[in-house]
Amino acid sequence: MMKRSQETVAAGLKTVLTRSPKRAAEFLRRGEVVAFPTETVYGLGAPVFDEPAIRKIFEAKGRPADNPLIAHISNIRQLNLLARRVTPAAQKFIAKFFPGPLTVILPKAPAVPDIATAGLDTVGIRMPSDPQAREFLRACGTPVVAPSANRSGKPSPTTWEAVREDLDGRIACILRGGATEVGLESTVVDCTGRVPLVLRAGAVTLEQLRTVVPSTRLFRPRKNALARSPGMKHRHYAPRARVVIVDSLSGAVRSENAGFIGLRTPKPATGFGQAMLCQNVVEYARRLFHFFRQCDAAGVATIYCESVAESGLGVALMDRLRRASEMQPSPGRRRSA
Ligand code: AMP
Ligand code: MG
Repeated sequence: MMKRSQETVAAGLKTVLTRSPKRAAEFLRRGEVVAFPTETVYGLGAPVFDEPAIRKIFEAKGRPADNPLIAHISNIRQLNLLARRVTPAAQKFIAKFFPGPLTVILPKAPAVPDIATAGLDTVGIRMPSDPQAREFLRACGTPVVAPSANRSGKPSPTTWEAVREDLDGRIACILRGGATEVGLESTVVDCTGRVPLVLRAGAVTLEQLRTVVPSTRLFRPRKNALARSPGMKHRHYAPRARVVIVDSLSGAVRSENAGFIGLRTPKPATGFGQAMLCQNVVEYARRLFHFFRQCDAAGVATIYCESVAESGLGVALMDRLRRASEMQPSPGRRRSA
């Protein structure tokens, strides 16, 4: 299998911007890839049964071929096109949390091409709740596989401008919507085993999942972690700047070359090149990836991120902060302070 998809897409396509879900869906039905807003982050979609179109997603993003895609559906009947079996746990999660920011992992139906699932015999399925996403998916008339619409390794895009920054000239169309509501990728829960396992934390929290299936656990990566959720080993969520997690504003070193993001405090966050104070964890999650991109655009060298309590959405937020702080770019790419 190819280790990394070859970069055969020349930056030369004309990328059409549209506010019309129907017009965007016409591109997709012709086998072109289309970026579209959802409540989590912007996705980059292709029809699930169109292998050449799916290949274009990997090429446009520079996404490694061993990183599986999530299939997005617009109605429950489409589940049977994708999953060989809908397990009892999945049925309960679907009844409670679809449409919404939750992906269930199920045994894959034979018709789903291997390229979509990176050769796994399972498939991730989600039904977005964002009205524009729903209209777009309905107009597509087929399930749509879509990873986040960023160049591989960059923070997920939460605005159409961020999609354009990464993929202009590399994709046929961007469905232009507002800034995404959640700002972090979907919760991923593996429903194929004895107990459901949360492979990736998101806006549907462990506490919420447990109200439906009390045995649900957070997956703790051990030796077999890579096989379980291949995408999690790749560089994700990280800006070019160095990310440092601090307990509070006073742990950050003020400088024009530094950024700070955290919760609102009585003290103002002065003395930083870029600063963002949020009312609560929900706003912090919504703004994080945009702030990363804003800091990169301004040439900030270090971004200080205030840690939050690890409950509810705080689990997902801390997961992304840790990944961004651990997965630093190679020294050649890092900017000098
Ligand atoms: P993205 O949409 O860019 O956030 O990427 C989708 C992520 O969902 C992948 O990187 C995986 O971590 C996870 N995922 C998708 N499909 C599967 C699957 N069949 N099994 C396990 N994890 C999956
Ligand atoms: Mg992604």
